[in-house]
Amino acid sequence: MTSAESRTVEALTGSDWDYSPAPERTRPDIASEYGLFIDGEFKEPQSGKTFATTNPATGERLARISEAGEADVDAAMAAARAAGPKWARLKGRERGKYLFRLARRIQECARELAVLETMDGGKPIKESRDVDLPLAAQHFFYHGGWADKLQWAFAGRNVRPRGVCGQIIPWNFPLLMAAWKLAPALACGNTVVLKPAETTSLSALHLARLLQEIDLPPGVVNIVTGAGDTGRLVASHQAVRKVAFTGSTEVGRLIMQELAPREIPLTLELGGKSANIVFADAAIDQAVEGVVGGIWFNQGHVCCAGSRLLVEESILEPFVAALRDRMAQLRVGDPLDKNTDVGAINSREQLDRIRSLVAAGQEEGAILHDAQTDSLPEKGHWFPPCFFTGVQPSHIVAREEIFGPVLAVMTFRTPEEAIRRANTTPYGLAAGVWTDKGSKIFEIARRMEAGVVWCNTYNQFDAGSPFGGVKESGFGREGGLHGLRGYVR
Ligand code: NAD
Repeated sequence: MTSAESRTVEALTGSDWDYSPAPERTRPDIASEYGLFIDGEFKEPQSGKTFATTNPATGERLARISEAGEADVDAAMAAARAAGPKWARLKGRERGKYLFRLARRIQECARELAVLETMDGGKPIKESRDVDLPLAAQHFFYHGGWADKLQWAFAGRNVRPRGVCGQIIPWNFPLLMAAWKLAPALACGNTVVLKPAETTSLSALHLARLLQEIDLPPGVVNIVTGAGDTGRLVASHQAVRKVAFTGSTEVGRLIMQELAPREIPLTLELGGKSANIVFADAAIDQAVEGVVGGIWFNQGHVCCAGSRLLVEESILEPFVAALRDRMAQLRVGDPLDKNTDVGAINSREQLDRIRSLVAAGQEEGAILHDAQTDSLPEKGHWFPPCFFTGVQPSHIVAREEIFGPVLAVMTFRTPEEAIRRANTTPYGLAAGVWTDKGSKIFEIARRMEAGVVWCNTYNQFDAGSPFGGVKESGFGREGGLHGLRGYVR
């Protein structure tokens, strides 16, 4: 529904009109404890340590997760190294079959995995069901297709796998990030030690169950859970021949320093402060929807979230009014309700960070417009969608990655000013351009310092399309032909 249509609905029905609850009934089979997935089996951690994973929407404990220590990471690396030669020798079409099998199993279990992702991470079920799961399956299908075609992918070259890959992922798209990492590595004949984020390990561990079901040879994929210390052990291990990291720029920097003396290829997919540029000649209702989806869905827990809106000065007022209307209609709450647009913030730590950055924005004089939701659940971590106007480029809300549902609105008068403002950030992950003029699109997109530029749309992903950043948003690409390069010699 466009914002104009929904304003009409509200006028006709009054502000009390509401959806009935539509709770998701599927419940995944969650164990009370999970071991580490090493050499094809779930094993108790040699560290003897475990930690709890909770549902951020309720505070309820879901399971205990193992914390991998040095001996555990060593064991995972040894398993990956031992499995390497046989996996690399396997014909590409045979490796491809495993990936296709896995993709089909993900599709078959999609509903349960989506619910699991929502329970562990807090994102609305409609996001995990309609975005994360289909894209995760797509990544395995897509890369399964490349497994026996590598000689055409790299024409004239005889490519070989790199060996053991250490892969570390964040909490915002847990299963999808695992798919982005595993699929190209396996297609190219590498073996993997993967470390999920500490607040969202469950979907990777359930993926491990599927790896057992498809009879993936033991040791080809190993999953070690734990926090930053475990990640550091994985990234710095002597057995790794390739490291792929998705997460914050701060941690990416640490990993880069750690690997600097060694010749280990590295892919870094880091933070962002992406700009959506809206010109006065754009289709305004569509642009409002794009801006709303780009920052408020998934609670703004999206690396390429359009967290800065640059709107042409002449349409500021109507655009902000439409944005405010649309924000008021967003349904914040139970992530397992199929009507929910904005779910729970992933952790207490992240909620505190969002709150402190928003408070800093107010102290600096920017004007806060929030959704004024008075019915947020009592338990769990919640932060309703909001936006700031009166923002200066020097303000903290215009500079810092907030990783929450917080939008900074600024204006521009000329295309040159829009380009300059959009590029005034150390990050360079993504950008959006909204205009009716094709020539303007080409010119602006060409001059954006961003790895991905969407035009008259936002947050579109496809396994065949490379994704990644420039500047402090990292380097290397995931997805598409470009994404294979990091996994071959
Ligand atoms: P984070 O950097 O804190 O953690 C990411 C992962 O790194 C986690 O698994 C964590 O346990 C691990 N880790 C922490 N310290 C480590 C260390 N010293 N060595 C090795 N591993 C370590 O990031 P986060 O809070 O989980 O995720 C949010 C960040 O990720 C945001 O900045 C977001 O923009 C970014 N992100 C980027 C992309 C992308 O594709 N560019 C995608 C998703 C998220």
